[in-house]
Amino acid sequence: MAVPEQIKSYRNDLASIRHDFHEYPELGMEEFRTSDIIAKLLGEWGITVHRGIGGETGLVGVLKNGSSASSVGLRADMDALPMDELGHVPYKSRNAGRMHACGHDGHTTMLLGAARYLAETRQFDGTVNFIFQPAEEGSTGAVAMIRDGLFDRFPCDRIFGIHNWPGIDVGKSAINRGAVMAGGGFFEIVVRGVGSHAARPDRAIDPMLTACHIVTALQSITSRNITTGKEAVVSVTRIDGGHAYNIIPDCVVIGGTFRCFDMAVLREMRERMQAIAAGVATAFGASAEIRYPVEFLPTMNDPLCTDMMASAAEEACGVGNVDRNAQAVMASEDFSYMLDQVPGAYMFLGNGNSEMLHHPEYNFNDGALVYGVATLARVAEMALSAR
Ligand SMILES: [Zn+2]
Ligand SMILES: [Zn+2]
Repeated sequence: MAVPEQIKSYRNDLASIRHDFHEYPELGMEEFRTSDIIAKLLGEWGITVHRGIGGETGLVGVLKNGSSASSVGLRADMDALPMDELGHVPYKSRNAGRMHACGHDGHTTMLLGAARYLAETRQFDGTVNFIFQPAEEGSTGAVAMIRDGLFDRFPCDRIFGIHNWPGIDVGKSAINRGAVMAGGGFFEIVVRGVGSHAARPDRAIDPMLTACHIVTALQSITSRNITTGKEAVVSVTRIDGGHAYNIIPDCVVIGGTFRCFDMAVLREMRERMQAIAAGVATAFGASAEIRYPVEFLPTMNDPLCTDMMASAAEEACGVGNVDRNAQAVMASEDFSYMLDQVPGAYMFLGNGNSEMLHHPEYNFNDGALVYGVATLARVAEMALSAR
């Protein structure tokens, strides 16, 4: 099996749609132009469009065929990143400080291609919901759509999504039957002490020294608390405090991220971070308060949905081009919140030898578009099999 000829015939159309999105990237919750174009194209293909789900820009296209009550969701993210593009493509970003450096221009285009193909061929029995999500970067868009009643208004028996992946050859893909991306969050620990002249540390309760001990002790979580064989990361990435050589400040803020692939480990990490921050601070006479400005769930694939998506990818890419035992990655993805509500699967699609995601010279590989379109379309047909 291979990519259907009909999907191959979309190649030039898909590339020009993708280049247009790339040229006019928009940040999360501001994808107004992108959302307008998607709504227009879906409408042209006879797909019913519902707008304003998850902020103003989120939208769902609904395509029904036959009489079955079965339903499937296919999801793509639409947002760009707040950075300048440094590559040299003809369709380079025209919006200063905005760039499609995570390939969401490609994801949106692939879902549009799948929508067009399914609308034209209608080889399924049931309802396909095409979910165009705002604001994946920063992990707010999926939750916003769910809060706006995404799965109440557009019930999905199963849900599927794709992220492009640099380092995997174009025409290949990778998936596994469990966690594919990490859960965790960002943390901030506010350490409060008493400031003083730096020459009189005996008059201070030094939050700088306390913070440094907390940073060191936090590393004991991954090396001493987490069960052997489970993966986990705690990275301190920021220490803010003080502004002079001769003043001990009264407050220092530590920031960073913690990640793992399992909810039980996630809870344990939170408990240990809390206990270490409070305990070390107390030992030094200071106090520490921990906050989690952003949290995310592990992206957990359902085993049966994974098998279905892997089979769909094998039909599109060829047997032997789908790695069914993909290594999970410590990056995160807010599709996890949709998978927390509905069983489904998330797949990595080869983007070839491109720069890594979020690199200023990254670019989505147009060669990957038809494989993504074919996989999404086929998995929807399999989920809504008329046979
Ligand atoms: Zn990203
Ligand atoms: Zn992304």
